Amino acid sequence: MSGAASQNGMPLTALKGVGPRLAERLAKLGLHCVEDLLFHLPTRYQDRTRVVPIASLAAGEPAVVEAEVVGMETVGRTRRSFLVRVSDGSGTLCLRFFHFGPQLQAALKTGTRLRIFGEVRPGLSGLEIIHPEYRALDEEDSGETALTPFYPSTEGLHQISLRKLTDEALKRLPLVPDWLPADIAAAHGFPDLHGALRLLHRPPPDVRLEQLADGQHPAQQRLAFEELIAHQLALRELRLRLQRQRAQPLAADGLRQRFLAALPFPLTAAQQRVITEIDADLAQPKPMLRLVQGDVGSGKTVVAAAAVLAALASGAQAAVMAPTELLAEQHLRSFTHWLQPLGIRVEWLTGRLKGKAREATLAALADGSAPLVVGTHALFQDEVSFADLALVVIDEQHRFGVHQRLRLREKGRAGEHCPHQLIMTATPIPRTLAMSAYADLDTSVIDELPPGRTPVQTVAISDARRAEVIERVRAACAAGRQAYWVCTLIDESEQLAAQAATDTAAALTEALAGLRVGLVHGRLRPADKEAVMAAFKAGELDLLVATTVIEVGVDVPNASLMIIENAERLGLAQLHQLRGRVGRGATASSCVLLYHPPLSEQGRARLAVLRESCDGFEIARRDLELRGPGEVLGTRQTGALALRVADLIRDENLLPAVQQAADRLLREAPQAAQALQRRWTGASERFGEV
Ligand code: ADP
Ligand code: MG
Repeated sequence: MSGAASQNGMPLTALKGVGPRLAERLAKLGLHCVEDLLFHLPTRYQDRTRVVPIASLAAGEPAVVEAEVVGMETVGRTRRSFLVRVSDGSGTLCLRFFHFGPQLQAALKTGTRLRIFGEVRPGLSGLEIIHPEYRALDEEDSGETALTPFYPSTEGLHQISLRKLTDEALKRLPLVPDWLPADIAAAHGFPDLHGALRLLHRPPPDVRLEQLADGQHPAQQRLAFEELIAHQLALRELRLRLQRQRAQPLAADGLRQRFLAALPFPLTAAQQRVITEIDADLAQPKPMLRLVQGDVGSGKTVVAAAAVLAALASGAQAAVMAPTELLAEQHLRSFTHWLQPLGIRVEWLTGRLKGKAREATLAALADGSAPLVVGTHALFQDEVSFADLALVVIDEQHRFGVHQRLRLREKGRAGEHCPHQLIMTATPIPRTLAMSAYADLDTSVIDELPPGRTPVQTVAISDARRAEVIERVRAACAAGRQAYWVCTLIDESEQLAAQAATDTAAALTEALAGLRVGLVHGRLRPADKEAVMAAFKAGELDLLVATTVIEVGVDVPNASLMIIENAERLGLAQLHQLRGRVGRGATASSCVLLYHPPLSEQGRARLAVLRESCDGFEIARRDLELRGPGEVLGTRQTGALALRVADLIRDENLLPAVQQAADRLLREAPQAAQALQRRWTGASERFGEV
């Protein structure tokens, strides 16, 4: 990320104590020059000015104590450790070292007074700290003058080293140029750049820790503002460069008419409008960059197919990419179902396609004999080349970042044409956010659901009433309907989730004798997953037990009941997505949110939102209110936007000013604009190559 910056900054090896080995470790963190290090900010702080008595320590908490060494011993046969017992009069605490030598042993003699920092955990004989940080009290003068920062780190790089390094780097602070016009900073009450960086690396003890933790401190806001400007500029540049490129003008022909006529339903007015908007873009000799937002079930896939047909009508190729294999498989089925009757072959490509089949697909894409391919991000690997790629459809875009979009561009016919891009998402994005997150895109909204959908009846039920819920599944299936049972785990591995689903499937198979129960999770082989999904879709299974792999896109209209376990632990947007798997047919559908009591006040309020609303935009708005910043776009977890300090949602109030500042910099100080962009995105260079 900071590769560009390293070319014009002072190299890290200029700092005291940085040799080639340390430089290599720092490079792993993307740190190449002194400026990189200055922008490598702590993620949390500890107040080491507040010493606590040992007697009041509790396991799992960070501790700051002052105590005297009262004894020591070396223990253990295979894994030896050095134990130091310290006392402060209120109690004793054990310090455990696995790595130790004569130096350490000499430094911790009986009677030495220490200030000790670390996380307390339960040991064999009372509380202990493993490899604490410590400082002899009579060694240098006492007293901590700042809150202690903790930096993102990597293996073999200790916090103490990072603190020493940033101390050194802070001495070079005057070399770092401040690009933000002073009057803009003043208007927002921001400190200058140097003040902001100094504060964030070494906050004074009187700073409000909660404010820092929430990212609301003026020093953070100042950097966030700068970063958002950089991001905005990068996206605008991306857009400008793209618009200067040539694309193949595309127009649909009779084939699309035949496709639409063969659909078992008429398009909604919203679908028609969006297709018209897309057609107008496609007709241009410059690349389309359009984001289509539409709630779950609004029928985005048909719109994508209509766009694809415009590319094919012009004799060019199209690619459709989905974020997961399961969703890609679903698209493969839809497109094959719709387009095969028109004589169009649909190719398939994911990372797991191997051997002869893969070679054949790659060859067909390269020589142009395959007009359409559906797949995952594997579509954009280097080895995939297209004869004449004119359109790329990306489904559920919020999981893809600017960099992926850049890579995609390189897939156009070399040097001649850049593909048109159509990006689709069910994540509702408020307009100001869209302008910042996707400043390089035009947007369309499918703001209407197909007619005849009955809103999904949603209830929240304690998992103590599981037996009743199981009966409900039996009743629905007896009436010829199908059901999903979704097992969710938060922050757990795919493997654990798969295990939970497997166990649940076994239990439900037993409880629901006579019903055909299927199981799908992320660890199944693609062919097996495919087979289970196909069986469910064909009505050969009554109940599908699944992990959240079915979150997006899966479409089985006869499924009318969904059970979601541990609903209280999922985000509202995710629950809404999951729930969108039912209510796709004409029958009244319902969704049971199973929760594990007791439910917190907030948990209750959150589940109530889902009971009361089926509108993705409304749910996103309430989610934002209830959960606060950070997760509606799903960017936190995925790093899709790769923002370092700023948070598009938390800092939404800054966005209008950010846009203005970006305009002004471009007009009055293009060099500052460039430098800012390089500092924060490091991508300016790459954009330049496009
Ligand atoms: P999403 O926008 O969530 O991707 P899909 O494209 O999967 O939605 O469409 C959901 C379902 O609605 C599919 O079964 C699709 O065939 C159907 N559908 C799409 N458009 C219409 C329409 N205009 N009228 C009725 N059903 C439609
Ligand atoms: Mg979809």
